[in-house]
Amino acid sequence: MKKIELPKLNYQLNALEPYISQKTLEFHYLKHHQTYVDKLNSLIENTEFEGKSLEQIIKNSKGAIFNNAAQVWNHTFYWNSFSFRRNTKPTQLLEELINQKFGGVDDFKQEFTNQALNLFGSGWVWLVQNEEKRLEILSLPNAENPICQNKIPLLVCDVWEHAYYLDKQNRRADYVKDFWQIVDWQKISERLHTSFFYF
Ligand code: MN
Repeated sequence: MKKIELPKLNYQLNALEPYISQKTLEFHYLKHHQTYVDKLNSLIENTEFEGKSLEQIIKNSKGAIFNNAAQVWNHTFYWNSFSFRRNTKPTQLLEELINQKFGGVDDFKQEFTNQALNLFGSGWVWLVQNEEKRLEILSLPNAENPICQNKIPLLVCDVWEHAYYLDKQNRRADYVKDFWQIVDWQKISERLHTSFFYF
C-alpha cells in the first residue's frame, strides 16, 4: 500500500535565511514534519484510511489520525507558501479581494499578525476564501484545518513554538515579522479559486 511521504521542498534548506534558518528547517521540516508523516503511516496501517489521500483522511477522521494527517497537510502547505524569491506581490485579483475585505495589503498583514500574536498556545493562522469566495482570516488551534469547513486555504502561518523557538526563542512577534519577508505572493495568488468571478 502506498505510504504518505514527506514532500520535497522546491528550495534549499538555507533558502529562507536569514528569516528562517537552515537549522530551523532541519528540525521543523526534516524532524517535526517527518515525525507526523511516520506517525500517520503507523496509525493508518490496516485501517480504512490506508491508501487514502491526506484530504480524505483529514475530512473523515478524528483524534490522533486527524491530528497527524492535518499536521502533515498544514506543514506542506506552509512550506509551499515560501520560496527563494523576495519582494513578491499579490496578483491584481488577490489585491482587489484584500482591499475589499481589509482596506489594503498592509492592513491585512496587520490584522493577520494580530491574530498570530493573539492565538493562545499552539495553532495556525490562515487566510482563506469562504464559500462566497470572499476572504477571511481564521485562527485555528492545534492541527485544525479550514478544508474541514469547506474553505479554501490561501496562506498559513505556523505559530506552534517549534516553528520559531530555535531562531527567535519566545519572540513570536519577531518570527511573524520575518514571515512576511519570505511569503511568495505569486504562489498565494495561484491558490485563489477564481471560477466564481467568471460566472
Ligand atoms: Mn510546525
